[in-house]
Amino acid sequence: PRKQLIVVTPTYNRALQAYYLNRLGQVLRLVKSPVLWIVVEMNAASTETAEILRNMGIMYRHLVCMKNSTDVKDRGVHQRNTAIEHIERHRLDGIVYFADDDNIYSLELFESIREISRFGTWPVSMLAQSKNKAILEGPVCNGSHVIGWHTNEKSKRLRRFHVDMSGFAFNSTILWDPKRWHRPTSDPIRQLDTVKEGFQETTFIEQIVEDESQMEGIPPGCYRVMNWHVHIESRELLYPKGWMLQKNLHVV
Ligand code: UDP
Repeated sequence: PRKQLIVVTPTYNRALQAYYLNRLGQVLRLVKSPVLWIVVEMNAASTETAEILRNMGIMYRHLVCMKNSTDVKDRGVHQRNTAIEHIERHRLDGIVYFADDDNIYSLELFESIREISRFGTWPVSMLAQSKNKAILEGPVCNGSHVIGWHTNEKSKRLRRFHVDMSGFAFNSTILWDPKRWHRPTSDPIRQLDTVKEGFQETTFIEQIVEDESQMEGIPPGCYRVMNWHVHIESRELLYPKGWMLQKNLHVV
C-alpha cells in the first residue's frame, strides 16, 4: 500500500486566504491517495475555511489552536504544534510535511516525499518580491547523501541545518518511537520552538535527527526544485482607500 501523506497547513483569515487554500487544495486533490490535509486555525474554526475544506473532496481534519500569541510570527508555530500533538496523540501513521498555504508546490514533490523512510530534505527556491531574485535553501547531495547546505555567509555559523519549513518531511512514527529510528533523545519532542525566525526548523530537526547521515536527500542528487517559498508581504499590498478587504475573500 502507498504511504499516507500528512500535510500540515496553518492558515488565517485574510483577503488572500480563499485563493491560497483553493490553490493548495486543488494540488492535493491531484496527489494519489492516501493524503490527509490537517488545516489549523487560531482560536476558532472559521466557516469560510470549513466550507472550502468540505468542498475540496479530499480527506482533511480542521483543527483549532487555542494557544494565542501576540507575536504574529509565532502564530504559525503554535498552529503547527497543535497538528504535531494531534498526530502524536492519535498515532497517525504517515509522512508529515509542513505546507504553508501561500507557497507553490509541484505534484512531483508530493510523490517524492512518499518515498522517504525516515527524514527527507530537498532544496527550496526562495522567491522574494523585493529582492527580485531566487535563492536556494536546503541540502547539497551526493546521491541520497546530504553532504552540505546551500547557505550564505551570515547564517552559516549559526544554524545547524539550513532547511526551510517547506524543505523537509519525516516519518510520523519518529515522534513516538524514538528507539526504532535512533532519535537523538528519547524525551518527548519539544515540538517547534518560538525561537528567532529562521531557527525554528533547525531547532525542531535537531530533536529528530542526529546528523546528516540520518537524512535522505530527495530526489537523489537534490538537483530539482519541487516547491517555491514565495515572500509576498500581503500586509503591504496597496489597495485604493475604502477598497481594502480585511477578511477572507470568499465571494467573488
Ligand atoms: N499563519 C497563520 N497565522 C498568522 C500568520 C501566519 O496561520 O498569524 C500561517 C500562514 O497562513 C502560512 C504560515 O503561517 O501558512 C506562514 O506564514 P507567512 O506566510 O506569514 O510566513 P513566511 O512565508 O513569511 O515565512
